[in-house]
Amino acid sequence: MTGYKTLRLKRGKEESLDRFHPWVFSGALAGPLPDGLEEGDVVNVAAHDGRHIGVGHFQIGSIAVRILDFADTSIGTGFFTMRLEQALRLRRALGLARPDNDAYRLVHGEGDFLPGLVIDIYGPTAVLQAHSPGMHFARRQVAEAIAGLEGLGVRNVYYKSETTLPYKAHLDAQNGYILGEFETSIATENSLRFNIDWLRGQKTGFFLDQRDNRQLLQHYSRGRRVLNMFCYTGGFSVYALRGDAVSVDSVDSSEKAITLTDANVELNFPGTDRHRSYAVDAFKFLDTMERDAYDLIVLDPPAFAKHRSALRNALRGYQRINAKAMEKIAPGGILFTFSCSQAVTREQFRLAVFSAAAQTGRRIRILHQLTQPADHPVNIYHPEGEYLKGLVLYIE
Ligand code: SAH
Repeated sequence: MTGYKTLRLKRGKEESLDRFHPWVFSGALAGPLPDGLEEGDVVNVAAHDGRHIGVGHFQIGSIAVRILDFADTSIGTGFFTMRLEQALRLRRALGLARPDNDAYRLVHGEGDFLPGLVIDIYGPTAVLQAHSPGMHFARRQVAEAIAGLEGLGVRNVYYKSETTLPYKAHLDAQNGYILGEFETSIATENSLRFNIDWLRGQKTGFFLDQRDNRQLLQHYSRGRRVLNMFCYTGGFSVYALRGDAVSVDSVDSSEKAITLTDANVELNFPGTDRHRSYAVDAFKFLDTMERDAYDLIVLDPPAFAKHRSALRNALRGYQRINAKAMEKIAPGGILFTFSCSQAVTREQFRLAVFSAAAQTGRRIRILHQLTQPADHPVNIYHPEGEYLKGLVLYIE
């Protein structure tokens, strides 16, 4: 046995863990916590009868332990190296690490058996994000493991967890380079180049999870007038331009996002006159835009529901925004509509979009049902890992 403190489960509470679900809820724990146990510690979890269940990170909150391994493993640089090698092997099998594509997610939390950890690769730089105190304390071991990965080519590791760690843990995490330094902010996705601002940007600076969906949008862009709502870094806009869209309009309420979008369009299509951008509220833009002005609209809003409590309002938000786009899109138009709220199920999202469609009375068919790409894998024992939902609709 490793020398970690042991947390015992109440009788019968090992069931979901025996099915490899990696979370131990606080209500499943028996008796008082061991003396001296600190948030972020590595702990052993045992069944009521003392049987070993797994080893994981302890945290204060409704999820008390995130299991790192169901075997009796010691959690150090060796463990992280093994997990990262497995993660890299998968990305190589997916064909994502290529000279014309050096932006991809290397570690997607539970989907890579590393709950609480996200690692995105942008060329020579890895951006590391901890979502649990345990991963915060392990950040240097993780960075060391990244640097040691053969053939990965990452020299710099930027730590970005100021906003992702539980506020109540008072970890006072500072963003900054753990290894190396700033080298380049330009990364390549399917031969397109993007300026990634991990210092100030949302998430790790870029929404890698829309890669496959951007490619699909490119396919439908030829000859169409495209509207990219909630454009952020302009990913969809750049793909639409490559797909020979007649025109592309990008909208985001944030001035910073519009600056990023303009810069990325300029980087790939210098001097193009096919692109315009607007720093305005999406709802206002949809209200005032003319009918039939666009043949292809992308709706990729921020998570309307960050928590279950906000679900009802979120669903209303999805319905409202989709109804507006459906009413005004030109006949024969295509709508790409997304929800990245974890609290909203695929069924609920579909129902919100269905209600919007019914409200407009137009003839609408579903062409594609979209999700997150393969470098954001879903651990089959942890269905909560599926969060991105999208529909492509044909509107007559
Ligand atoms: N589609 C983007 C990601 C969108 S992130 C991509 O593929 O990279 C969500 C974006 O919505 C953010 O940039 C945020 O600034 C913007 N946003 C949030 N509320 C908005 C509103 N009411 N109107 C317009 N944009 C908004």
